[in-house]
Amino acid sequence: EETRFSPVAAELTSSRIDTSVAHPARRYNYWLGGKDNFQADRESGDAIAAAFPAVRIAALENRYFLRRAVSFLAEEAGIRQFLDIGTGIPTANNTHEVAQSIAPHSRIVYVDNDPIVLSHARALLTSSPEGATAYIDADLREPEKILNHPDLLRTLDLSQPVALMLIAITHFIVDSEDPYGIVTRLLDALPSGSYLAVTNVTTDLMPPEQKREADAAATSGRHGPIRFRSRDEFARFFDGLELAPPGIGPVAEWRAENEPQPRPSAAEASVYGGVARKP
Ligand code: SAH
Repeated sequence: EETRFSPVAAELTSSRIDTSVAHPARRYNYWLGGKDNFQADRESGDAIAAAFPAVRIAALENRYFLRRAVSFLAEEAGIRQFLDIGTGIPTANNTHEVAQSIAPHSRIVYVDNDPIVLSHARALLTSSPEGATAYIDADLREPEKILNHPDLLRTLDLSQPVALMLIAITHFIVDSEDPYGIVTRLLDALPSGSYLAVTNVTTDLMPPEQKREADAAATSGRHGPIRFRSRDEFARFFDGLELAPPGIGPVAEWRAENEPQPRPSAAEASVYGGVARKP
């Protein structure tokens, strides 16, 4: 149907792109083997990889979880609308590509706060003719701005179920920013039958020495805020929701029966994932 993107906006935002400081979107792109990153991102990415050598595996496994979660939501849960906050730089199997390959009428709203992602928005707006995609430049910490954005309201019908995708973004929200409250405010705007999918990095699955190094890297402040979450802290995101089988656990194990073998260990892909339905 329609795509919403202004090339003028992209020009204006390029001045907001600071290449001297590592950004999560570009660092993740680096780990995934992409080209949309700068020296500061690679240095930060390498420093984290020194503390946690499996970080590239973790990034890839997180990405595979996203593909499987969207497939489950479109195929088995019948979801036709997605709100994907923390979109990242486009790569293989973006949410709208996976969803629309299953259900061409699917409608997707992407949200990210990084101008580098906005500058790639065109690639996210290649909707199937039957469906629709939109991109909103906004911050997860301002849920009302997202929910009231005209492009969201034009693209999604909030009287019908929506899958809220928070994939590898909540670990950038520290406790003082009220991550659980943010998720609640977003879910409150969605009807019964909607879904929540979340992944968040954890040190639970790491051997003790690795855990110490990862904690040190996270608290050094050199990589921006990173909030590892324990299983219980992760589970809180799903309070009051009905977890889809197999429940919460390491992303590498979630509905991964058909993935190529051997699977990485839970410790290598140190990310928790889960999908749940709003009753
Ligand atoms: N969801 C994708 C990308 C994860 S990388 C995937 O799992 O493959 C995390 C993304 O979250 C980055 O693009 C980063 O810019 C974005 N992000 C981080 N904090 C954010 C915030 N407060 N609001 C909106 N986006 C944010």
